[in-house]
Amino acid sequence: TMEAIGHRIQDYRESQGDKTALIDERGEVTWADLISQVNRIANRLRQAGLAPGDCVAGLSENTREYVALYLGTLVAGGCMVPLSGMASGEALTLMIRDCGARLLFVSGKNRELWSSIRESVDLPAENVVGLDTGEVGQTLAQWLGDVSDQATPAPVTLDDPFNIIYSSGTTGTPKGILHDYRFRQRQMVRMSRFGLDGDAINLVSTPLYSNTTLVSVLPTLFHGGTLVLMAKFDAHRFLELAEQYRVTHAMLVPVQYQRILAVPDFDRFDLSSFKLKLCTSAPLRADVIAEAMRRWPGNIREVYGLTEGGISTSLDCAAHPDKWDSVGLPTEGAEVRVIDDEGRELPRGETGEIVGRAISMMRGYVNRPEQTREMLWTNPEGLAFYRSGDMGRIDEDGFIHILDRRKDMIISGGFNIYAVDLEKTLLGHPAVADVAVIGIPSEQWGETPLALVVKAPGHPETETELLDWANHRLGKTQRLAAIEFREELPRSTIGKVLKRELREPYWNR
Ligand code: ATP
Repeated sequence: TMEAIGHRIQDYRESQGDKTALIDERGEVTWADLISQVNRIANRLRQAGLAPGDCVAGLSENTREYVALYLGTLVAGGCMVPLSGMASGEALTLMIRDCGARLLFVSGKNRELWSSIRESVDLPAENVVGLDTGEVGQTLAQWLGDVSDQATPAPVTLDDPFNIIYSSGTTGTPKGILHDYRFRQRQMVRMSRFGLDGDAINLVSTPLYSNTTLVSVLPTLFHGGTLVLMAKFDAHRFLELAEQYRVTHAMLVPVQYQRILAVPDFDRFDLSSFKLKLCTSAPLRADVIAEAMRRWPGNIREVYGLTEGGISTSLDCAAHPDKWDSVGLPTEGAEVRVIDDEGRELPRGETGEIVGRAISMMRGYVNRPEQTREMLWTNPEGLAFYRSGDMGRIDEDGFIHILDRRKDMIISGGFNIYAVDLEKTLLGHPAVADVAVIGIPSEQWGETPLALVVKAPGHPETETELLDWANHRLGKTQRLAAIEFREELPRSTIGKVLKRELREPYWNR
């Protein structure tokens, strides 16, 4: 077992007090100053009556205060609930009530969102704090008052709650995913193997409310490394910060790789400090990996997993250049299998739902025992696996290939069509910059695939020309019904194409 993060970081105040813990838009914060602020928050939370396991919700972009709040909550023995500023007021109200948050911290940038929900959220005014500039009631400084910065971290066990992350809602009503210390500690051990240690300088450009971000942020903090926080992603600024601070690590979602590589003077930046870039949350295209491996120093590791845990694979891109279209091998201690609709295990090479077993798994969905149970699949030997909701297969070398989310799969005339196959084919045409394939209603087939294409600049091809080109290359049962051009594709804050949103107008008319 490992020391809990709230205890571990206390040492850094003395042992490396002058070292930079984090850098945000306002400059650098040393480890001594960070821990002092963390402890003040922890003490004040206790004064406010926070009991072990109580929830503290935060609604903020990536700032020093947000990191301090996260750690302060843990030091006090509380459970952090990072909320998404992209969620609707309605969804946020639901989340705050669902977890029973005792206190809420809101950044100035989210003040309008806050005013839209303040009536429906049942929190006493003294338990709502403006995280930075005020405007949301008392400021953090006012709330803290002259509380001491010497704290004794609350004792915790591996079963204690660490945080609740609400699923991004790309698939419907947000569900609260509860992680305990066991989950986080194991994840940190795994991630540390990728060099996220005390020497890491980790450039964080995805929001802190996402598990994708926390996966790399928590081990960096645990080991006393340095975070460079971006409040808002901008590809050019990312490169400036990477060069300026000699960044070694970054966790990026696929669309960010594309934006960064497309920066016109990309090659002028000195990126030689990079050791490893991580990627997760959506498929990273093989052609993007190829370009990044050629032009951007350091290795790439693609990670596949769910916020719920239970399933985790990773691909070392330098070691396996012939497997860039896969998500690699199960991580240590993890096991992956594929099952069919009837729950029978499928042999290698066959496509079905990906299920997995791993030592780190959420404790469950908050207030949803039924849905928590539904995630389980038990094999004939009685071993429990977790269902990913993703369709995929395991190849002859044991590498895992992800096709679609089950609910994004298109069933046409009895055949399963995987959007990914069609998207890959279309991306083979130089006129196609971005594409999403969705199923739309068809009288004849039930459902039929439609491609929404963002065109690369300067290509004259028409929709019909591209359609002919693609259908020529696709299998008979995969053929596209149509292609429509779009200016851009809607994406979640962590870069997932919002297929549900794309599908909706076709099904509701
Ligand atoms: P919701 O369930 O509401 O959509 P979410 O998308 O935020 O929420 P996550 O747990 O972040 O939920 O996403 C997990 C899913 O992301 C996986 O089931 C898979 O579909 C997709 N995914 C994650 N990593 C990869 C990857 N490397 N390649 C392909 N797909 C991935």
